Amino acid sequence: MKTILVTGGAGYIGSHTVKRLSALGYAPVVADNLVYGHKEALPQNTPLEIVDLADRGGLKALFAKYKFDAVIHFAAYAYVGESVANPAKYYRNNVIGTLNLLDAMLEAGVKKIVFSSTCATYGEPQYTPIDEAHPQNPINAYGAGKLMIERVFADYKRAYDLRYIALRYFNAAGATADATIGESHNPETHLIPLVLRAAQSDKPVQIFGDDYDTADGTCVRDYIHVDDLADAHILALKVIDRYNGALNLGMGVGVSVREIINAAQAVVGKKVLFEIAKRRAGDPAKLVAANAKAIDILGWNPRYSDIETIIASAWNWEKSRRF
Ligand code: UDP
Repeated sequence: MKTILVTGGAGYIGSHTVKRLSALGYAPVVADNLVYGHKEALPQNTPLEIVDLADRGGLKALFAKYKFDAVIHFAAYAYVGESVANPAKYYRNNVIGTLNLLDAMLEAGVKKIVFSSTCATYGEPQYTPIDEAHPQNPINAYGAGKLMIERVFADYKRAYDLRYIALRYFNAAGATADATIGESHNPETHLIPLVLRAAQSDKPVQIFGDDYDTADGTCVRDYIHVDDLADAHILALKVIDRYNGALNLGMGVGVSVREIINAAQAVVGKKVLFEIAKRRAGDPAKLVAANAKAIDILGWNPRYSDIETIIASAWNWEKSRRF
């Protein structure tokens, strides 16, 4: 049985990955500071160590307590807008925190890490679909910090033989099929949960701009089911001895904000009120992944990411959420 440290394991993508690791017979150990994570999101009997990445002593103690085979590193702040207003918070936690984690890993002789990176490392797309060779010019501190860590990994591989895979997520969405866990951000800023909340209320969801250069004028994104993301992390653990580098995780399918609203109306069986609002700063018109490399290298087979399945699973969660 493989013992895997999952930092940020009580968060959205982290908790879905922990659930699947457990189901597959791995022994996940979660490290989370619970600033944004939810204890309730963890399967019973999953060890939870409450530790902050700023706490170097706490990290050292964690690696002394367990013998980890690998680390999956989700723990990070992830509000793009906040990262622009308060970059210090993001560089301190996401960058310095990861350096602290790497120090603790290397000191304990743990040399494998699967990392939550992001399509925000690319910045404004020069072409779509975006492949891994696309230039990386992030336009916010969140993306810039994630890119810094990707570069740290490349140097640490050369110098210390670190094995790493950086998974560049596009738009994570949906909830696990049994609706026991799902997306729970406070504040919630993501489109699908906000559309579903509008469906439950008489308040409209805002569409951030309908004058983009896209077919219907609203922004186009590549939505990927959280359980398909979770699977990719587990596959990454299996290939990390022979592949180190970055992989895009998206479906290669673009869906507009209006199409999300239409799909949600069909799933819920109710009209969703919306209003057109100003563009949100830093939103590119279209972000769509080229995912051939992830499929090839990981043998990844995303199964849940058609937009109806994503929204239906998110809706089941919204209706019954426990946290
Ligand atoms: N969006 C919107 N209204 C909202 C939230 C999001 O129109 O209340 C748009 C946003 O401008 C973007 C898309 O929906 O084009 C997805 O946004 P989200 O925040 O879910 O993910 P992001 O693409 O920022 O990672």
